[in-house]
Amino acid sequence: MRNCGEEYDSKTRGRVNKRSMKPPCHNCKLKCTEKIDENYLKEIFAMFWAMGDLQRQREFIIDSTQAVVPKYQRITLNRKRERGSNQAYSITKDGEKIRVCKRFFKNTFGLSDRANRTTFEKTDKSTGVLSLEMRGKHGKGRNLDEELVKIAKVHIEKIPRIIVDLKVLGSISMVENLSSNFTETI
Ligand SMILES: [Zn+2]
Repeated sequence: MRNCGEEYDSKTRGRVNKRSMKPPCHNCKLKCTEKIDENYLKEIFAMFWAMGDLQRQREFIIDSTQAVVPKYQRITLNRKRERGSNQAYSITKDGEKIRVCKRFFKNTFGLSDRANRTTFEKTDKSTGVLSLEMRGKHGKGRNLDEELVKIAKVHIEKIPRIIVDLKVLGSISMVENLSSNFTETI
């Protein structure tokens, strides 16, 4: 019942309460509460939990978010970004994507930080973008990873602007795959 938002018993967390909407953001620059009325939020909350399927719910969250990549930003080895912090959230109403803050999004669907993080960790793996930065922390095969990251960087730097582009993502995940193969054989 956990993916329907109903109360359930978790082996690790004990009784988990029924999902409910949490208070929206306040004093928020995006003025989320003014953009979408509460009745609509209740509707999409119900819709989200009626899906009852983790995969579909994840896809929904992914569809509602967009990676914010500043123009001309480079991926550097030293840059440590908070995971998932560079996501823009939106709620779709009448076919229009309305930008809201993370708190508003999360609380509308009664999601925990953990749920969001898990979703983005999965997303990152499928795109390889942030995972690149997280590599190298594993000790084994570290130098090799860094070499591969450098190769990826060179490739990335050839592209004037980093955009979420299949070509870029393809090459990064290729490097990622190579990297994990090497790590396994060391
Ligand atoms: Zn807000």
